[in-house]
Amino acid sequence: MNPAILQQALARIETLGAISDTPGALTRTFLSPASRKAAEVVMNWMEELGMTTAHDAGGTVRGILPGTDPTRQPMLLGSHLDTVIDAGKYDGALGIIAALSALEHLREDGVQLAYPVHLFGFSDEEGVRFQSTYLGSRGILADDAGETIIHRDAEGRTLDEVLSTEGWHEDAIEFSYDASSSSGYVELHIEQGRVLEEAGEPACVVSAICAQARLRITLVGMADHAGTTPMDLRRDALTGAAECILAVEKIARKSPPLVGTVGMIRVSPGASNAIPQIAELTLDVRHPDDSALGNALLELHREFLEIASRRQLDLQWLEVQKNGAITCDPDLTGQLAASLTRITGSKLSLPSGAGHDGVVLSKAMPIAMLFIRCRAGLSHHPDEYAEPGDIAIGINVLADFLKHRTLP
Ligand SMILES: [Zn+2]
Repeated sequence: MNPAILQQALARIETLGAISDTPGALTRTFLSPASRKAAEVVMNWMEELGMTTAHDAGGTVRGILPGTDPTRQPMLLGSHLDTVIDAGKYDGALGIIAALSALEHLREDGVQLAYPVHLFGFSDEEGVRFQSTYLGSRGILADDAGETIIHRDAEGRTLDEVLSTEGWHEDAIEFSYDASSSSGYVELHIEQGRVLEEAGEPACVVSAICAQARLRITLVGMADHAGTTPMDLRRDALTGAAECILAVEKIARKSPPLVGTVGMIRVSPGASNAIPQIAELTLDVRHPDDSALGNALLELHREFLEIASRRQLDLQWLEVQKNGAITCDPDLTGQLAASLTRITGSKLSLPSGAGHDGVVLSKAMPIAMLFIRCRAGLSHHPDEYAEPGDIAIGINVLADFLKHRTLP
């Protein structure tokens, strides 16, 4: 590979990493001004490669590179453009940039693919704004039977309201893929774990993606005076929430590989001299096995009910999103693994604890993923880092896969 291609990829990671809604930290959430700017930058890169670009009202972008055989189904590539709050530069962005670099690499080598490539930058994978993931990839499926997003963003607006006022409507098209629309989806992503680093491997293919549930828990007690209300007469929603959070930790710790996280809590009235009346928390629970996740949710719910009833709190337990574990497509993954072996000699395959857009797209097409090692497994953090050498391997594996791709 021409070293200039890697240099361009590294420069692009810096470029996207500097497009943020908050000064001094990287944050790009669904339909924010920075998300729009990042989408425009990516569309420009796609056009430089000769792609025809388009976007939908939800801010997802697509570039199409035609193949030499118009009868062939397209191959989808991509990753997400959005980030968590105070994010790293590689999560999501690397998958889009590496795909562009792989196509550039093939172009320089004079390789023309028979099939078209559709490269996506999804507008929402992290689910920061609505605490509901995959708005971007769900938006490109013809049959998006996903649940209605019932939550509101931090300004109290619903998804429909946000889409109508902030949506990218001018020149928007609606992407619509079903089971017969494409031959598969392949995504490169940083591993976000420490397994590759410990194994001394730069990359691996992904065997499966863990089942994941996201919940919104609300505990309601009674606001009262912090000075005059005796301790045994209080109905303090926040102390109840604290007990629930520790219960999550206790239950997850005793049943590995179950993981459970309360990542956000909102308290009202939120005053230093008032007993908290309402505590709202998010709960994220994951397990590679669907039934084990279901059992964990039942156990957590029972425990939360017991805590709430003992403390005379009302409990609202709301499942915002639940995705079953998915297995990556054996054929597609086998072809990606063959490319990995040709480039690195490795045959490593790992399950993913993190959710990815492939979870959604697997409803309509075969999916495969390539993981790239990231330093100390650190992700969702500004110190997230992937070595240039590993990124080059990722680009080479993708390019090799695209070149050798055979239809099932
Ligand atoms: Zn990601």
